[in-house]
Amino acid sequence: MNNLLLQLTDRGLYCSPGDFYVDPWAPVDRAVITHAHSDHARWGSARYLVAAPGLAITRRRLGSDTEIVPLDYGKPTDRNGVRISLHPAGHILGSAQVRIEHRGEVWVVSGDYKRDDDPTCAPFEPVRCHTFITEATFGLPIYRWPPAAEVFAEINAWWRANQQAGKASVLFAYALGKAQRLLAGVDQTIGPIYAHGAVQAVNDLYRASGVPLPETRYAGEAPRDTDWSQALIIAPTSARDTPWLRRFGRISDGFASGWMRVRGQRRRRSVDRGFVLSDHVDWPGLMLAVRETGAERVFVTHGYTAVVARWLSEQGLEAHPLETRFDGDEEEEGEGADHESGHE
Ligand SMILES: [Zn+2]
Ligand SMILES: [Zn+2]
Repeated sequence: MNNLLLQLTDRGLYCSPGDFYVDPWAPVDRAVITHAHSDHARWGSARYLVAAPGLAITRRRLGSDTEIVPLDYGKPTDRNGVRISLHPAGHILGSAQVRIEHRGEVWVVSGDYKRDDDPTCAPFEPVRCHTFITEATFGLPIYRWPPAAEVFAEINAWWRANQQAGKASVLFAYALGKAQRLLAGVDQTIGPIYAHGAVQAVNDLYRASGVPLPETRYAGEAPRDTDWSQALIIAPTSARDTPWLRRFGRISDGFASGWMRVRGQRRRRSVDRGFVLSDHVDWPGLMLAVRETGAERVFVTHGYTAVVARWLSEQGLEAHPLETRFDGDEEEEGEGADHESGHE
């Protein structure tokens, strides 16, 4: 990537004429951040630019004494003759694609994105560009997401069945983004909803940022005689196999993730139920996104980079894998190393 508008350096993607980085993985002077997940919003840089709806969650991640400048979606800001704007990525609250324009040349860095319905964040918006840098976490043809409404109907039915069987429903999900999407999507009339502390803290930030979520009670403060058999409990995957779960008595557990599309992953997780719900783009969505940008050149990061780059090359595009360090996929927590075995 020499002499290009964006270059891959040992600190991350660098725009030399604008003198800033996008999602740097080492401290830099100026960072433009696509979203608040930990592999994208790393601590230690002097200044951060983020999409305005993500200000509160980014501040929580990076600390209150960090200089973080919010920018409204679609509103350009200029730096050394380089025009920067942020556009909705549909991934989590405040997630952005970064559009970079210099002397008529336009690049877009997707960050993580999805195209499916999610009432907790602004929907993905295609942005025309010459060069597109896309993620490929689920960049294999087997990954196709069912409509979210179908998945939520399954979750609601599972919750009701557990109530009848006298079991608490414990649903594991990533604490930032997925947990809130689940809350916004489940039928809150079925019963009380409780959250693990890590989830509850993010819920409060979402509410403070103007995202309406159903009421959630903090599980850690519930009275000892709580009847958990009617409850849905949303917890981070890190709470699995911990003593924290004992308070709920008999449980049925579920996991909401794109990896649940593959039966082998479900087995490895050994949860009672897997729900196919991802905050990343699936294969058809990725292909559509690339087409809609109109880009002639595509760089592929995050996941199945070689597969997607080869496929796009066969479609006549210039496409290359790009070895970034966005490999710890936040939604799956450490499942990234499992990519190659995901074919089973
Ligand atoms: Zn992410
Ligand atoms: Zn990521």
